[in-house]
Amino acid sequence: MAVIIDGKAVAAELRDDIRKEVFALREKTGKAPGLAVVLVGENPASQVYVRMKGKGCEEVGIASYQHLLHAETSQEALLSLINKLNAAPDVNGILVQLPLPAHINESAIINAINPRKDVDGFHPVNVGKVVIGDEDCFSPCTPYGCQVLINRHVKDLKGKHLVVVGRSNIVGKPLANMMVQKNKMANCVVTVCHTAAPDIAYYTRQADVLVVAAGRPDTVRGDMVKEGAVVIDVGVNRVADPADPSKTKLVGDVNFDEVSKVASAITPVPGGVGPLTITMLLANTLKAFKLQNGL
Ligand code: NAP
Repeated sequence: MAVIIDGKAVAAELRDDIRKEVFALREKTGKAPGLAVVLVGENPASQVYVRMKGKGCEEVGIASYQHLLHAETSQEALLSLINKLNAAPDVNGILVQLPLPAHINESAIINAINPRKDVDGFHPVNVGKVVIGDEDCFSPCTPYGCQVLINRHVKDLKGKHLVVVGRSNIVGKPLANMMVQKNKMANCVVTVCHTAAPDIAYYTRQADVLVVAAGRPDTVRGDMVKEGAVVIDVGVNRVADPADPSKTKLVGDVNFDEVSKVASAITPVPGGVGPLTITMLLANTLKAFKLQNGL
């Protein structure tokens, strides 16, 4: 039976470290790191994420500046706010909650953020730096969280075969680029699967570390996993609860009951990757503060 990877516990440990460092830096510099979060419109899921980000900042002593704009906000008005935040000395990180309303071009907004404040790691400059392996970059938060969890459960990653199911710009592709780097948090042999693969099981069965970010329940079943593999399930899917069809529940992309019998370690959903995502945003904001202040 697999060890259940406790994302909440890892996140709590990391937040404690971040909090201690933030308070030490506040004492040394008289300044606190600051994160600006911008939300356009009233998407309920986005509102929850933005609230959680504010709470996360408060927990570790990062100043949080929330800009809640109405759904009809023009692209020009949003760009003008980004420009103000780029110039604001107390704002070290800027995050624009996605998705944006259809009348706003997401790329134009992401490209307008100063790459040194792009704590989400979506600006092309940071994407490029991740590919190059430049340490002076911001890794996107969800793959960064996966990398942290993998490193907690695999002692020496050198030469391990890491298979990622999914090639999105926010999870699959950045994770593949991060895990192929020649450094001690990575150095894997990496394979990326997507819907054009005729049989993903051919690849997933070879994985020492399997990360699944497909956005579909049961994408990976027990017979698709090698005995002893470490499995990271990024998926978050709301499905009818078989125990009570009038209710729903959250499941990942991996069939947990089957795969936990084969894997050596596995993340649950919820409570696996999820808690790490906001924690890595806090870590990136602290990193931005240090880089911008030459610390
Ligand atoms: P996405 O943009 O929809 O991308 C899904 C990827 O999976 C695509 O590359 C797709 O291939 C591939 N795929 C889908 N079904 C497949 C299959 N049967 N076989 C092989 N490949 C398949 O999704 P995403 O944004 O990366 O998110 C993935 C999941 O992670 C979602 O459930 C999302 O909610 C969750 N998520 C969680 C967090 C968190 O903090 N916990 C953060 C981000 C995302 P093609 O490119 O060929 O279409």
